[in-house]
Amino acid sequence: MKIVCVGRNYAKHINELKNEKPKKPVLFMKPDTALLPPRNPLYLPDFAQEFHYEVELIVKIGKMGKHIAPQFAHRYYDQIGLGLDITARDLQARLKAEGLPWEKAKAFDNSAVVSSVFLEKNAFKNLQDIHFSLKKNDEIVQQGHTADMLWPIDKLIAYISTFFTLKKGDLIFTGTPAGVGKMSIDDVFTGYIEGQEMFKIKLK
Ligand code: ZN
Repeated sequence: MKIVCVGRNYAKHINELKNEKPKKPVLFMKPDTALLPPRNPLYLPDFAQEFHYEVELIVKIGKMGKHIAPQFAHRYYDQIGLGLDITARDLQARLKAEGLPWEKAKAFDNSAVVSSVFLEKNAFKNLQDIHFSLKKNDEIVQQGHTADMLWPIDKLIAYISTFFTLKKGDLIFTGTPAGVGKMSIDDVFTGYIEGQEMFKIKLK
């Protein structure tokens, strides 16, 4: 399986990192080795100094497709999860400045936290009206609303599938809202969709 991630899909997050608003979705990928195995504690690698959490709604692909039209995209997924796109921000800044690919800062081992639970898509009345959030220790640090996505899920799937065949089990990280910040040892991160706890991880 592969993980396709969307960058810059929420306007306020684009502003906080002083990025340009993209004309097309910004895509990058993480390999399957980026998945943090379930119930494993999270250790940060030592090749960077500043690691950021980015909470993101995750779509799990249910069947293979390519060149999927937006109006049929809903047929290709049934499940919604939540996770963290962990980012070595200082390293990413250096790579960006040099115009180099982001993988070292975004796709390293254990950089993808994925909830072990996924929710049925049909449990939501409107996929563009989902609230999700992240607590760092006892403080809510990120609050997302899918209405604020620059590209909603179905448009993302259509766009992604013009470049990459999507296969059953692939995951799409749909972008992070504002509020990203630093991770430190002993921090506990808890992610919620509509108030329901989706994951809890501790940084070792
Ligand atoms: Zn992200």
